[in-house]
Amino acid sequence: MGTGDPKPLDVMKIASIQMVDLHGQYLRLKADIDAAIQQCLDQTDFINGSFVRQFQQDLAAYLQAERVITCGNGTDALQLAFMALSLQPGDEVLVPAFNYVATAEVLMLLGLVPVWADVDPDTFTLTAETAERALTNRTRALVPVHLFGQCADMDPLLRLASAHNLFVVEDLAQAIGSTYTSADQTVKMAGTLGDAGSLSFFPSKNLGCYGDGGALCTNDPELADRLQMIANHGQRVKYKHELVGVNSRLDTIQAAVLTVKLRHLNEFNQHRQLAASRYDSLLSAIPGIKLPARAPYSTHVFHQYTIRVADDKRDGLQRYLREQGIPSMIYYPMAMHQQPAYASSKSPAGSFPVAEALCRQVLSLPMHTELTQREQEYIGSVIADYMHKR
Ligand SMILES: *Cc1c(COP(=O)(O)O)cnc(C)c1O
Repeated sequence: MGTGDPKPLDVMKIASIQMVDLHGQYLRLKADIDAAIQQCLDQTDFINGSFVRQFQQDLAAYLQAERVITCGNGTDALQLAFMALSLQPGDEVLVPAFNYVATAEVLMLLGLVPVWADVDPDTFTLTAETAERALTNRTRALVPVHLFGQCADMDPLLRLASAHNLFVVEDLAQAIGSTYTSADQTVKMAGTLGDAGSLSFFPSKNLGCYGDGGALCTNDPELADRLQMIANHGQRVKYKHELVGVNSRLDTIQAAVLTVKLRHLNEFNQHRQLAASRYDSLLSAIPGIKLPARAPYSTHVFHQYTIRVADDKRDGLQRYLREQGIPSMIYYPMAMHQQPAYASSKSPAGSFPVAEALCRQVLSLPMHTELTQREQEYIGSVIADYMHKR
């Protein structure tokens, strides 16, 4: 003792700003989560236990989907979807050029061909125009990725899909709980507009477990049966393998965590939305910063709060934030067609100008359910400081 006064609370808090605060959230839900995990331990039903069935039902109810099939992670969910749709090797699937790698990866593993399409500069998602430009007579499916928490504009994409007989697999790994409003004013949950929706429960997602987890949702009972079988070695009845499958399961302990957390998902998303509007007002007057757009047809659950910074200032701003104890992330630093494993002479630099510009400009700020106004004011003042000075 005697090494000086303790730091004032707000300085300590600011010194510990995190991109995502999983521990703070756990402490708020600790009693219920611990009890649910303890119940799994007591029941020792670790594989396909009662919480798995419970969570599948609860999530189907939440998503207003006929069926939910849980699996090992969000990447597996995409793989299961493409396996269940019975695509043939060489078939093409339209994927946004600005995206996480998972979709492209599973397509390649299945012998399918990912075909990139550029994205909308405001929402960062696939559009019917960009998708149509990438269409060929081998195109069999398209994957709208509801990036950062907001739905792609589904009406025109669904029209395009139905005109060309394409399957639609929605990737809602980042958008659980967001809703899409069609031109006729019907409101649907993200994931229930296409043939199937794929979800991830990676810990940092809006609904995250304490390890890996994933799921699919669909309103098509036949597709649901196939997905369920494929996730479980292609069997409906034990040791009778009707399809070539895989082993991809959500652990019962993870389902227990998710069953508890799902009850809080709307409040989690509301906290993110509140934090997003606070950022909006803190940052709106700062030159050289473009705030995330809100599409009129979708709600936004702010998996990420992603600003665009003038090209030449983004990396400097990120460095300055880091020096002031503020983490930030670049989702994503490189477009799909420029990734070494996926590049080809068919898509030279400049092929997808919006995706390429975003890779130079995007910056995702801390966003989670425990973020405080005080922390955001500090983040806002540091950003203002940098952008006004340089
Ligand atoms: C997280 C994520 C995935 C993959 O999920 P995992 O559970 O990590 O396999 C797929 N697509 C998108 C858009 C994601 O954000």
